[in-house]
Amino acid sequence: MSEMRHNWTKEEILEIYNKPFMELLYEAATVHRLHHDPNTVQVSTLLSIKTGGCSEDCGYCPQAARYHTDIEGNDLMSVQQVKAQALRAKSGGSSRVCMGAAWRNVKDGEEFDQVLEMVRTINKLEMEVCCTLGMVTENQAKRLAEAGLYAYNHNLDSSEEYYKEVISTRGYQDRLDTIDNVRKTNVTVCSGGIIGMGENIEDRAGMLVALSTLNPQPESTPINALVAVEGTPLEDQKPVSIWDMVRMVATTRIVMPETQVRLSAGRTQMTREGQAMCFFAGANSIFAGDKLLTTPNPDVDEDMKMFELLGLKPQKPFTKKVQPATVEAQDSQIEALGEKPRWTRPEHKIERNEAARTVRKEASQD
Ligand code: SF4
Repeated sequence: MSEMRHNWTKEEILEIYNKPFMELLYEAATVHRLHHDPNTVQVSTLLSIKTGGCSEDCGYCPQAARYHTDIEGNDLMSVQQVKAQALRAKSGGSSRVCMGAAWRNVKDGEEFDQVLEMVRTINKLEMEVCCTLGMVTENQAKRLAEAGLYAYNHNLDSSEEYYKEVISTRGYQDRLDTIDNVRKTNVTVCSGGIIGMGENIEDRAGMLVALSTLNPQPESTPINALVAVEGTPLEDQKPVSIWDMVRMVATTRIVMPETQVRLSAGRTQMTREGQAMCFFAGANSIFAGDKLLTTPNPDVDEDMKMFELLGLKPQKPFTKKVQPATVEAQDSQIEALGEKPRWTRPEHKIERNEAARTVRKEASQD
């Protein structure tokens, strides 16, 4: 039941997902106890270091410039601003800072150099540093590793089939190639997805096939419940039920026994009882802080009260893997190559994305 496998099939995963609820919960909780301390939860803080204005068309994302949302964009934050936020996160119990930039892919240059400096700065605060910056080449991944990056996040979002219903400006294979590039370094991989985008259960299982058959499996997997933001193509999606969320967490735990499963977006829609069920089913990581990039999240005090109630404790940094060393910019052995990789742009038509884009165009003409 708890063996590490990289050959899960969709049928096997569906069978797990559809088990009677109590049986699923019991099995997931048992696997969880064999691989993790069930009373420890890793706490990450997600920081939007560059918000909005993104060229992509991800149907769930309020940061896509083409949709009409209330997001206030900002340029890349300074290293000092990021350091101040990281210190705040540390004092609030976070062991990891995840920095997100609304970019399609990393481009060599001043801004990337600034991000590398942020990585160095946070690593020196003895916190795990994660980045989510879009697609990266092997050389860029190596430069991040050299700066002391602990994890790189690149979500698969959904199954390969349903991905095409949500995003037309980049391809699934580019996601897998980016993960592969990160794997050529000692940086750990964080990759997961979103449920509640209109996908069916087969798609959820399909996403877990894609993640669990990676070898090695991702060290962390965020499971997001869609936060339907007004103006985005997915604005009318109904909230994910807690039962679906628990089933998804439990199934992820069973097929990826060593992975830290993270409750991510959508926690404000869950009760404490619901979150407790997710922890019981194998979730062992959360995002802390009142914002997740641009969508709401429970505040830190609320979470700490929940931890106290449930007897949970925050995981210490570098519990699962030793702290990477930081090489200073002037001592770097890896040169920027200034590559211009051809990440794909399938550009097929997704009607709801087109409709949301039209609304924006019309609004800007008024
Ligand atoms: S999810 Fe990322 S790549 Fe997609 S639109 Fe949002 S910021 Fe851009």
